[in-house]
Order: sequence, then structure tokens, then C-alpha cells
Amino acid sequence: MAQQHTGGARDAVVIGGGLAGMLAATALLGHADTVTVLERDRYPEHRGFRKGVPQARHTHILLTGGQHALDDLLPGSCTALADAGAHRLDLPRDLLTRTPSGWPRRFDEGRHHTLSVTRPVLDAVVTERARAAFARSATRVEVREATEVTGLTGDAGRVTGVRIRPREGGAPHTLTAGLVVDASGRSSRAPRWYAELGLAAPQEESVDTGLGYATRRYRPGPGTTPDTGVNVPHWPSSPRGGCYLPVEDGIWLLTLAGMRGDHPPTDPEAFLAYSATVGDPYLHSLVSRAEPLTPVHGFHDTRNRRRRYERPGAAPKGFLVLGDAHCTFNPVYGQGMSVAALGARALRDTLARTGGPLPDAAATAQREIAAVTDPAWVAAVGADLPYLRDADEKPSAGERLTAWYFDRLAARAALDPVVGAALRDVFCLTAPLPRLFGPRIAARTVLLPRRPALPAPPTTPEPV
Ligand SMILES: Cc1cc2nc3c(=O)[nH]c(=O)nc-3n(C[C@H](O)[C@H](O)[C@H](O)COP(=O)(O)OP(=O)(O)OC[C@H]3O[C@@H](n4cnc5c(N)ncnc54)[C@H](O)[C@@H]3O)c2cc1C
Repeated sequence: MAQQHTGGARDAVVIGGGLAGMLAATALLGHADTVTVLERDRYPEHRGFRKGVPQARHTHILLTGGQHALDDLLPGSCTALADAGAHRLDLPRDLLTRTPSGWPRRFDEGRHHTLSVTRPVLDAVVTERARAAFARSATRVEVREATEVTGLTGDAGRVTGVRIRPREGGAPHTLTAGLVVDASGRSSRAPRWYAELGLAAPQEESVDTGLGYATRRYRPGPGTTPDTGVNVPHWPSSPRGGCYLPVEDGIWLLTLAGMRGDHPPTDPEAFLAYSATVGDPYLHSLVSRAEPLTPVHGFHDTRNRRRRYERPGAAPKGFLVLGDAHCTFNPVYGQGMSVAALGARALRDTLARTGGPLPDAAATAQREIAAVTDPAWVAAVGADLPYLRDADEKPSAGERLTAWYFDRLAARAALDPVVGAALRDVFCLTAPLPRLFGPRIAARTVLLPRRPALPAPPTTPEPV
């Protein structure tokens, strides 16, 4: 295999030019002499779908924590997304989430908003802004499309580069670098590449509720556009859920999801019928009056999976892993893109702080990436636990207590602005899970009487 280029300690390679890859390259600006981003696909000319990001057809929201990290890395990105048609949905004013006991109060809280936008537009805006940042930087960045990475070079102690297969002709070759960042998404082959280097695969944790997704685009009919996004999540006694959210150009996305193999169908009529079986009829009443614009697309690999590259000995020098290649989440919590942005910011901040050679900074950066990933992992896995147990399996006393507390907390959050704000802080990734156990939140959750939520979606916002 030909060696094409001998990179030095200050040359970096990023595997995958998706969201995490573009943000990783941005994080490396000013810290590397060159960054080469290797992307298997060609980018679409217009803001379209591509093979390497099959989940892009489904609802994607960007949470507050992710917005902060994205704007920190590429200032002005959230405004650019809004200019491109992203909806800024203030929580809970503009996005109502049904609870098992009813609808929440529509507080005009002004604390968190999610950005709702189709994934091709989000990726295109981020890529455009990243390329503009590359052009302004002293670091030379090259983005090579139609270029697949097929392995790593080096040995068990040190990664020295990557093996490349051009997808449109040309001979396989290698590219050497001081730092290789794997941002190749959920299909990352790094564990297999580790074996080729004589390294044990990183420890892997997987929590899978067997959730399946299906999504279709709609245009609401005249007079039927809801004035809020609608989310009817699954809960233990109602394992089917759905959400209906506005994106660009007057289009709405309906995503339906079912737990433990009870997946929404992709046949259009059966899909609509499935929407009538989620925990509240409101969703179906909206969708049945809207015009469908596309076929229904399904997606079934939704497990939470993290690979512990930060553990001692799990990452050779000169190699780190970011984004879905590192950790995937059950998508109903809308966390993956935000965590990719938080991880890229952690990489940038580690490089700025340590200032040392790139190969040596990798292990510290990987620990920081794991640390910023942890709150989202704990929240997603904790929320998924009730769905993992078989009906005849008895939960432990601790699990019963935790389930009781979170059930009360969710019911309280629908009506109580103080508890609601804490829950939103955690799920929007601006506060860690212990925020939900602070004395004020615990007292309101445990001591105040439990009341049912509202019987119908509230039509007017209320001040807090
Ligand atoms: C159904 C679904 C819904 C979701 N909804 C949300 C949501 O609402 N909010 C949210 O924040 N997150 C959501 N996510 C998660 C989100 O999609 C991911 O977290 C995000 O795409 C991660 O970005 P990434 O760059 O790591 O991976 P990707 O976006 O998958 O990009 C990986 C890139 O690597 C390239 N690549 C792969 N292998 C190679 C190789 N060998 N060589 C070169 N290039 C390669 C691919 O072509 C691709 O461009 C959802 C996920 C799913 C499955």
C-alpha cells in the first residue's frame, strides 16, 4: 500500500465529515498545522440526504446545551439555523409534552428552547460555517470526499495514521498523522481496527429498549396548523409514542416510535392507524387532517451504546473518538448532536489548556469527552430502565424507589414551574442529574400533593 503523505506530530486526520467530524476539525483549528477530513460520501449539492447519515430522515432537535457548544465553536450558528428556517421552540410554551396524567401547563418560561430543523439543513449550515472558519484559520484544512478509511496504522501503543480507500478510483494508500479522530458515527469500525493493531476492544456498554422509529413529512391543511409542537412520549403503560414538530418551509415531521419491537409500520395507512394508538388522541387528530408529502421511513438501531475509550489503556497515543462513534443514545431524548458538540468543545478546550503535542493530548481529551457525555448517558439510560424488565421480573427496592420518585417528579413538573425548570435543565443538558435531587426539588416532589395534569392541551401560554 502506497504511503501518500507523511504527516508530523502537528498534523491531524478526522475520520468522517458529518456533524462531529466538522466540529472536531473546528476544534483543532490553531492547534494543528493541517487537518484532513476524510468523508466516505460526496456531499449533496443541495441540502439533501446522503447515504452515510441514514437517521437524517427522522426528527432532530438541538437542545440548549448543544446550542451553547455549537455557538461557542462556530459563533452565530444558531442564528444561521434560524435564518435557514429552524424553529425555535420555547419549552414548554411551544412544545407540549403529554405526561401519563395529562397535559402540562404552558409556561412562558424563556429558559430553554430547542431548535427543530431537518437534519440536511442543520448539517449544511454547520458545514458551511465550519468551512468558513477553516478558510480564516492558519491551520490548513482539506476535506476529501468519497474517501473511505479502512483501518488505522501504528501499533498497540500509538496510532500513526489511517488506511484509505478512494471510492471513485485511485489506489488504496495510507496517510500519517500525529492525531487521528474517529468521528465516523454509529457504524464506527474502531473496535475492529483495534484488533488489527493488537489492541483489546474498548469495554462497551449497551442498553437497548428495542425502540423503532418511523417518520413522515406533512403539510398541515388550512386552519389545522397547531400553535405548538406536540410530543406524546411512551410511558410504561403506553409503550407507543409520537411527536409532531415544525421544520422549515411550513413542513411538519411526524415521528412515531414503539418500544420492545412494537415498531411503527412504514406502510402509509398502517402508519396513520398507529398514530391513533399513542397515549393521547390529539396527535392523530392533527395528523389525519394534514397532507402527507413523503413515504414513511423507518429506523430500528436506537440503542444506548458507549465505548469506554477513556479507560486506562483503552486509547493508544494519537487516537480519540467523538460523537456517535463514541456514544449513541436512544434518540427520543434528542441528545446525540448536542453531545457531539459538547465533546468537540471539550477537545478544543483540552488542546488550549494542555498546549502539548497532539498525540499526548489525546488521552486527556478523551477523558474530558467522556465527562461531558456522562450526564446525557445517565439521563437516557435511567429513563430507559423501566422498559428493560420483563413483566414477570420483580424490580429491586432501590429501583422501585427510583421509579416512584421519577414518576412523581414528572407529574409535578407538568404543573410546577420550579420542578419543571429543573427537569428541563437536565434533559436540555445544562445541568447534571443531581439537580433533580436538590432539597427544593425533592421537597416539592415528595411533600406536595400529587395532582392530575390538564385534560386537554392548553391553548394560551401563562407567565411564570
Ligand atoms: C432516528 C434517530 C433520531 C435522532 N434524533 C436526534 C435528535 O432529535 N437530536 C439529537 O441531538 N440527536 C439525534 N439523533 C442522534 C444524531 O443523529 C447523532 O448523534 C449525530 O448524527 C452524530 O453525529 P456524528 O457526526 O457522530 O455521526 P453521523 O452524523 O452519523 O456522521 C458520520 C459520518 O462519518 C462518515 N463515515 C462513516 N464511516 C466512514 C469511514 N470509514 N470513512 C470515512 N467516513 C466515514 C459518514 O458518511 C458520515 O458522514 C438521532 C439518531 C437517530 C438514529
